[in-house]
Amino acid sequence: MLFKEDISPEFAQELFNDSEKVLKFIADMKWADGFVCRKCDNTNYCEGKTPYSRRCTRCKSEESAAAHTLFHNIKFPVNKAFFIAYNVCVLGNEFSSYNFSDQLGLNQMTCWKFRKRIQNCVMRIDKNEKAKIQTILMTEYK
Ligand SMILES: [Zn+2]
Repeated sequence: MLFKEDISPEFAQELFNDSEKVLKFIADMKWADGFVCRKCDNTNYCEGKTPYSRRCTRCKSEESAAAHTLFHNIKFPVNKAFFIAYNVCVLGNEFSSYNFSDQLGLNQMTCWKFRKRIQNCVMRIDKNEKAKIQTILMTEYK
């Protein structure tokens, strides 16, 4: 295993089944040190339109939980994306995009692209340093 087991298999299973829980999990990690608006640096926010998004009280810009993380702009359910991300982190290359496609009922190319996104990020991590899965998921994605 490449990573410290910072997400237990039981908790991962819970997240696989519930996209709102995944969004909460991402939001909790992303704003663990508090919210800072990317546009105006304001730290006050209110709830946004989508689950666990936050809206700046000053400039009104809204940021979704997934924005600027590895889950940025995905076009399929975030719990399925979490399934792929978690398994790539834990199992390395063991699961192919065809395996993910079969298991999740997603287009194979969709799985390939997202799997590649995670792998690219994993490759940039120093192999000697046992990174947390959370570190991978919170990698800034543009
Ligand atoms: Zn703002």
